[in-house]
Amino acid sequence: MMLGYLLARAGVDVTVLEKHTDFLRDFRGDTVHPSTLQVMHELGLLEKFLKLPHTRITTANIQIGEAHFTVGDFTRLPTVCKFIALMPQWDFLDFLADEARSIPNFHLMMETKAEALRTEKSVVTGLTARTSKGAIAIKAGLTVAADGRHSTLRLRSGLTVKDLGAPFDVLWLSLPVRPGDPQDLVGRVQGGQLFVMIYRTDYWQCAYLIPKDGFDTIRADGLEKFRARLKEVAGFAAGRIDGAITDFEQVRLLTVTVNRLEEWARPGLLCIGDAAHAMSPIGGVGINLAIQDAVATANLLGPRLRKGAPNFETLKTVQARREFPTRVIQAFQVAAQNLLLAPTLRATQTPKPPLFVKLFDRLPWLRQWPARFIGMGVRPEHVTLQKAQ
Ligand SMILES: Cc1cc2nc3c(=O)[nH]c(=O)nc-3n(C[C@H](O)[C@H](O)[C@H](O)COP(=O)(O)OP(=O)(O)OC[C@H]3O[C@@H](n4cnc5c(N)ncnc54)[C@H](O)[C@@H]3O)c2cc1C
Repeated sequence: MMLGYLLARAGVDVTVLEKHTDFLRDFRGDTVHPSTLQVMHELGLLEKFLKLPHTRITTANIQIGEAHFTVGDFTRLPTVCKFIALMPQWDFLDFLADEARSIPNFHLMMETKAEALRTEKSVVTGLTARTSKGAIAIKAGLTVAADGRHSTLRLRSGLTVKDLGAPFDVLWLSLPVRPGDPQDLVGRVQGGQLFVMIYRTDYWQCAYLIPKDGFDTIRADGLEKFRARLKEVAGFAAGRIDGAITDFEQVRLLTVTVNRLEEWARPGLLCIGDAAHAMSPIGGVGINLAIQDAVATANLLGPRLRKGAPNFETLKTVQARREFPTRVIQAFQVAAQNLLLAPTLRATQTPKPPLFVKLFDRLPWLRQWPARFIGMGVRPEHVTLQKAQ
């Protein structure tokens, strides 16, 4: 949607397909990072965007056993917005879609599922899709697979995916907010359990980390045992578990995947976002990276697309630009999951706070660095593609 908006705004004829009838999806990641807010600022959309209901994260905190540590501070970032905005992803997408719809050369086709690539002499020339009225074919000078981590177009492209592995999955659930609750991001570590609580004004969005493929065992053990585990780690919200979690239907499984394509393009086709690299939920950076890919793609390909289809060499410049930030963040995520999260999930006792956690907590100036890494990413992109006259 972001790439569609950026290109259409620059005068390129764009069609965006969405297989669902709307963007309404629960627990799809609602973090809008400072670098994404910076992009909205550069597009002149920030003021209007921030009028939508949202909450703000300004610090990141960890509670290990009874000890509390502040490990990230977004208020020192060199960005217009010194916070992470939490906003339902469908509000963000609806907002972008509404802005894009006012551009005559932007076309959004809802309930249209891309099914296969069309090729001529090994060059991708568009796709075929299924709508509620039947199959359609779309001819395109460039086809972009931005269809997420289970990308159909990537699968059809024959491009090779490298799996980096993930030793954990995440269960998402909601707990009620009560007056007097803290209002920031809290990660809790208790025994061998990890629980992250994100304040969302009228509820807590909670992530409970479990060993890979462990949800079936949890379900087999029963709701009572699951609730007892949650109570151990939910801290001030422990008393709300029984009332809030009455069925496993209220618990959503995120199967964690970390992977990336070896090559992001083939002639006529480019993959970006999760279709090019699924990220671990550590740091909540998936949306941010997808947006950054979109900005880089628009900057690099937009001028060429105004004149016609870009050649394969031009498409490769996107990977050349975006692979480095992706690799750095994935390397950090893989190290964090293997060296910190997996041992904690195997442990029976609450671990001692690592040295770096104590250091960030004691030296407030240092806290801006994890916040920069998570909030701005590596080599942040800026909108350089100009609006059409
Ligand atoms: C449970 C969960 C929690 C997450 N939490 C966070 C978080 O807190 N912060 C964060 O930054 N990231 C989070 N993520 C990751 C984040 O959602 C993704 O990294 C990000 O949305 C990737 O953007 P994308 O545009 O590449 O793909 P997606 O957001 O997956 O968008 C792909 C779109 O394409 C559509 N589509 C798929 N196939 C087709 C098709 N064949 N034809 C037409 N349309 C199609 C889909 O319906 C979807 O709308 C989470 C992911 C999950 C699953």
